[in-house]
Amino acid sequence: MFENIPVEVGLIHEGERIRKNDMHVELGGPSIREKFEIVRVRKDDDITDGSIDIIGPDINDLNEGKSYPVGIIVEISGPKLEKDLEGVIERRIHEYSNYIEGFMHLNQRYDIWIRLSKKSFKKGLNSFTQIGKVMQELFKNELPFIEKIQITFITDPEKIHPFYTEAFAIYDERDARARGLSDEDVDTFYGCALCQSFAPTHVCVITPQRYANCGAISWFDGRAAAGIDPKGPIYAIKKGECLDSEKGEYSGVNESAKIRSMGEVSRVQLYSGFGYPHTSCGCFEGIAFYIPEVEGFGIVLRGFRDKTVNGLGFSTMADSTAGGRQVEGFHGISIEYMRSRKFMHADGGYDRVVWMPLEIKEKIKSFIPEGVYEKIATEKDVSNIPELKEFLVAHQHPVTRLWESVEPSGKTHAHQMSVFSCEDIPITAGGFRIILKNARITAEKIIIQPVKPQQPPGG
Ligand code: SF4
Repeated sequence: MFENIPVEVGLIHEGERIRKNDMHVELGGPSIREKFEIVRVRKDDDITDGSIDIIGPDINDLNEGKSYPVGIIVEISGPKLEKDLEGVIERRIHEYSNYIEGFMHLNQRYDIWIRLSKKSFKKGLNSFTQIGKVMQELFKNELPFIEKIQITFITDPEKIHPFYTEAFAIYDERDARARGLSDEDVDTFYGCALCQSFAPTHVCVITPQRYANCGAISWFDGRAAAGIDPKGPIYAIKKGECLDSEKGEYSGVNESAKIRSMGEVSRVQLYSGFGYPHTSCGCFEGIAFYIPEVEGFGIVLRGFRDKTVNGLGFSTMADSTAGGRQVEGFHGISIEYMRSRKFMHADGGYDRVVWMPLEIKEKIKSFIPEGVYEKIATEKDVSNIPELKEFLVAHQHPVTRLWESVEPSGKTHAHQMSVFSCEDIPITAGGFRIILKNARITAEKIIIQPVKPQQPPGG
């Protein structure tokens, strides 16, 4: 099938990771601002089937060990294709390009991160034409409703900007479409199993008010995909009975999650980061992380490169969040879910959000309830938990009311969760000093006892 390609292509290579020392070049990734991938449905006459264009240097002309901007535009046509399918077909770029030996593709949309290994480059994988050919064949074979396909790769830093801006406008337009609809308005949600190759127990549930964690698939996209390819990785979920409207728990979602996760996940509460939260694969755009010291949530996005207010960075917390698990207090989310009225609804929504990077705070400003916006701290206001506490008190953040609310039992009203987070935890034992770097310890009970000085013998 791939006779002129110098490396293997197949499922076996999906999930391959390429470390920095093993990479020939990197496209996109955290150090590059302008990177994107997009699928557009075009009229038949506008596509030259099989064409692959490269705007900028080809792989062979890129310097070893360096990072470059990248844009990937996949244009397709076919009588059954409609605009609603663009988002889900776009997600397949991740899947198909990862089939190529020594080609690692992570994330989606404006977050893509690609590495080509030295080994595959030495074998002769040295042109985007080869990558494009593989993608075109896989797209046409796996999705037969695509009749024509052309692909453009952009690596020229001087020319990528207008394409990048246009892609952003299209993502925004797609996202805005689902905003008018509520979860109560529909009787069917959609599930996606695309990320199960990386996180086998991950069960994405896509509803009008809970956008997919990767930020790439809306409820409308799910509906279009399940309609055209009912046996594909995106499938319909009958909502069933509403078991808890505050937390967003539905009998149909629970049944589907149990089947799709092979029994690992039997309950899902869509609007909470506690209890039975939505699972997190590794493609989430951001993480809502619980800060027990203030009983609120911080939010960090993938692109944020500094440490957050709890001393941990995105990638450290991503390790605690990912893998298809339900982790209380570490919750994978998309930016579009942050615009939803159901965002963390059961936990208090924005009344519970205490910290987030300024860039995202500005981006979603109009979706944060009036009166709360200025009470949420950013990296410009505070840099550690004591400063955050002071900020929240000074700004009378709603979360501070939880600190005062004490039940007769003596417990605070807030969610009781024994999580201690700290960058370094020193332990001194047997003459050695052991430092747990970026440790996270969960305990059912913490007992603090005073240590009485021992009486000297005969004293
Ligand atoms: S994050 Fe969810 S919706 Fe997005 S590709 Fe993965 S499984 Fe599908």
